[in-house]
Amino acid sequence: MVAMYGVPVVVLKEGTSRTYGREALRNNIIAAKALAEILKTSLGPKGLDKMLVDSFGDITVTNDGATIVKEMEVQHPAAKLLVETAKAVDAEVGDGTTTAVVLAGELLAKAETLLDQNIHPTIIIEGYKKAAKKAVEILDEIAEKVDISGLDEVKEGKADIKDKKELYDALYRVAYTTLSSKYMATPDIMDYLIDIAIRAVIQVTEKKNGKYIVRLGNIKIEKKKGASLADTKLVYGIVLDKEVVHPGMPRLVRNAKIALIDAPLEVEKPDITAKINITSPEQIRMFLEEETRLLKDMVDKIASVGANVVICQKGIDDVAQHFLAKKGILAVRRVKRSDMEKLERATGGRIVTSIRDLTENDLGYAELVEERKVGNDKMIFIEGCKNPAAVTILIRGANDMIVDDAERSFQDALHALRNLIRDPKIVAGGGAPEIEIAMKLRKFAETIGGKEQLAVKAFADALEEIVTVLAQTAGLDPLDTVMELRKLHRDGKKNAGIDVMNGKVVDDMAAINVIDPVIVKKQVILAATEAATAILKVDDIIAASPTKKEKKGKGGEESKFEFD
Ligand code: ADP
Ligand code: MG
Repeated sequence: MVAMYGVPVVVLKEGTSRTYGREALRNNIIAAKALAEILKTSLGPKGLDKMLVDSFGDITVTNDGATIVKEMEVQHPAAKLLVETAKAVDAEVGDGTTTAVVLAGELLAKAETLLDQNIHPTIIIEGYKKAAKKAVEILDEIAEKVDISGLDEVKEGKADIKDKKELYDALYRVAYTTLSSKYMATPDIMDYLIDIAIRAVIQVTEKKNGKYIVRLGNIKIEKKKGASLADTKLVYGIVLDKEVVHPGMPRLVRNAKIALIDAPLEVEKPDITAKINITSPEQIRMFLEEETRLLKDMVDKIASVGANVVICQKGIDDVAQHFLAKKGILAVRRVKRSDMEKLERATGGRIVTSIRDLTENDLGYAELVEERKVGNDKMIFIEGCKNPAAVTILIRGANDMIVDDAERSFQDALHALRNLIRDPKIVAGGGAPEIEIAMKLRKFAETIGGKEQLAVKAFADALEEIVTVLAQTAGLDPLDTVMELRKLHRDGKKNAGIDVMNGKVVDDMAAINVIDPVIVKKQVILAATEAATAILKVDDIIAASPTKKEKKGKGGEESKFEFD
């Protein structure tokens, strides 16, 4: 309430709570730190899993930061902001989410100390922004370029990707680094899965105006419980989790001309309320005949344009199935919209919404459409599509948890590979760049006057906190480890980091295959800085009153504390 000429003016709705100034800022920092704290233990290859149970009782077990924050129902606005940051990083580069949240949390924790020294939030914000900008420059300096020109020959079919050793190595290592930090990672099948990811990405890579574009959307991931991860396959085409609708239809069609139909192959049944007056057996016969005739017309139309495969987004009536079978047409029904769109791109066909409008030009093409047994189920394989840039990774695994986690891991690896092709520069992983940047930032801080310098140093400290966390998960003493790494980096070993799997410090992370695309590191730093500074800018939290049932006797509780 604001008093105006002695008359109170109500600005906020009754029940609205308001916290401001330092208190608001502290509350926000506490909430953001709490979220970061949760994610800390999941960082890196030895990060622990979280078991998340949603309101339906469905369980997700994962250490993937993006998944954790998506499944968690975060309440506090500042923590929500961090969740949004994580999602943004995930959308942009598909990796680095845990690191981004942990870093944002640390930036805020360090900011808290500066606030205690009476440094104004705007100074901290300025310092952090300068530090982030500098950090990105440092990343560019320490990054190594990967020569991806060999992709041309591979795309033209003149060489296998494995022949381009240096390129394959770089691709392998970025995928390895993301996969090794995941649940599915068992060394024996790792090579095989990485090879699948690499080939899938190359298949969907196009060159446009001299630049490579990786269309991850053309990679379909299909999961089928059963067998083991080692039975996961890369299919050059589209796999549908569907079966042929009628036993009389062919199970295999070569030179497939595919009609993609988004309309029911059924006769619209009259509403329940509509009444049909049938007064004689003759009329029943006519009615049924009419229905059959309509369905037969539809099938005749499909056959007349030359289609031998029908993929339908809607249902297919029994009678229509029968006619299709008689014409030797293979049909599949109730296919997801997203799959229809993938098929459109893969086969070069066009989805039609009215069978009447179907023409020969709308048909897609594939060398082969076949129903095959996969585990206990049947699936439809559409291979040798008109557009070869359409692949499916068919994931197998003993149970839902394994295939779900494998899917997320593949997503990570595919994104890592795309990131590398998009910006072919790499840095070592395992905390190496964080230590290197921190060291250089501290030097940079010296060149900045005033209290901002303290913020730049705080930024460096926050970055090293990532290393501390990795050291902890590796069972190492965090302080000793950071000290040792600082020394190695001072001696010019810019790739020195933590071999988390074997719990020791190593001179060169790249030598043990742990590298990250530089674009991820940049994104992490920029996103974390953005989130932290956004939170530091807030000095007022105005919250609408919670919905009725949560609002219980606040006044009563407060009065209890008056006696303390
Ligand atoms: P994020 O969600 O941030 O990607 P991850 O759990 O994938 O979190 O951990 C990423 C961090 O772990 C990166 O700093 C990466 O360099 C590091 N890392 C991955 N694999 C290894 C490894 N085998 N040894 C050391 N560090 C690793
Ligand atoms: Mg990762």
